[in-house]
Amino acid sequence: MALMPILTYPDSRLREKAEPVDPTREDLETLVTDMAETMYHAVGVGLAATQVGVTKRVVVIDCDPGGEESRLIPLINPEILSGEGDSFEEEGCLSVPGYAAKVKRFTRVRARWQDLQGVAHEVETDGLFAIAIQHEIDHLDGKLFVDYLSPLKRELFRKRYKKMHAQETE
Ligand SMILES: [Zn+2]
Repeated sequence: MALMPILTYPDSRLREKAEPVDPTREDLETLVTDMAETMYHAVGVGLAATQVGVTKRVVVIDCDPGGEESRLIPLINPEILSGEGDSFEEEGCLSVPGYAAKVKRFTRVRARWQDLQGVAHEVETDGLFAIAIQHEIDHLDGKLFVDYLSPLKRELFRKRYKKMHAQETE
């Protein structure tokens, strides 16, 4: 097990599109274990391989890290099949530390993915899990939640983020 460094905005590698993987032909256990350890260490509810510089369609999610409902779900090649309803919840991201904003997402989604053995799963879900799946799949497509901000909010975000992280390195 090993902690992996998490790439942070504006690292250009966060803009890369991840490639589909075949879990029956490729051993993804180590990657998933390391990603899970990295996510728990950073106290996040989800992490995409893109965020640790690996361009594979692999995601880990745990909607209640350290809690009673804690359950690690590795999602290989996750996809949203359909979505409905508008949700507008505050999101944060381990790759955009110190910033949170409300983002419009589907409330309820039908999603499909494979597990580490290559078995396909298809579920309909809502709540935090539905939001997390949408957020993490965006990472695999090179998108960040701040991309959804209005031009004005995005400009404010850029200024604030730059200032905040400039202070850190002083
Ligand atoms: Zn994120």
